[in-house]
Amino acid sequence: MPMYEFKCAACGMEFEELASLAEVEAGKVPCPDCESKKVERLMSTFAGGGDTPGGGESNCGHTGFG
Ligand SMILES: [Zn+2]
Repeated sequence: MPMYEFKCAACGMEFEELASLAEVEAGKVPCPDCESKKVERLMSTFAGGGDTPGGGESNCGHTGFG
């Protein structure tokens, strides 16, 4: 599961959560501080910064639902 970055719209807290995209889309990721469901998913932090965490991700999504 990928790690997503969120920002709570209620209290403004930023946090990271390990969740599936389905859970994220369904809004099942509450704020750990105020437990509000109004959280915004932040984009991947590529721009703005100095150090880059060396990491390799390999996606192999072959699902045939329909
Ligand atoms: Zn909050």
